[in-house]
Amino acid sequence: MITKLNHIGIAVENLKNHLPFYRDVLNLEFKGTDIVPEQKVKVAMFRVGEVQIELLEPTSPESPIAKFIGKKGEGIHHIAYQSDNIEADIKEIIAKNIRMIDEKPREGAHGTKIAFLHPKSSGKVLTELCQVGEE
Ligand code: ZN
Repeated sequence: MITKLNHIGIAVENLKNHLPFYRDVLNLEFKGTDIVPEQKVKVAMFRVGEVQIELLEPTSPESPIAKFIGKKGEGIHHIAYQSDNIEADIKEIIAKNIRMIDEKPREGAHGTKIAFLHPKSSGKVLTELCQVGEE
């Protein structure tokens, strides 16, 4: 079941250029950075209430984030909903004839399990499900 909004992903060319805005101007709580090799991204997380802002910097030109920035420029990349059982939610979504990019969850940043819906099925808004580990 989807329980709440978990984070908003923002594609950036370079974390260093954007960290000060979120940390020092908006004064959001900086949770640190993480590298997700599978996705070829470096991630910086900020907490604001129950929601997080996820800055995504590509670590390779082959990264999906590098391709996104090449096509659309920097900006909002995806919206992530938190699931309490990602496998069950994926099954339910597929049963409703919605296409998934990931039919099985994969590893996200900070020990999460994530799966993306296909943007053609979600009104071009790239939509992620994520299940957090024990906090
Ligand atoms: Zn995300």
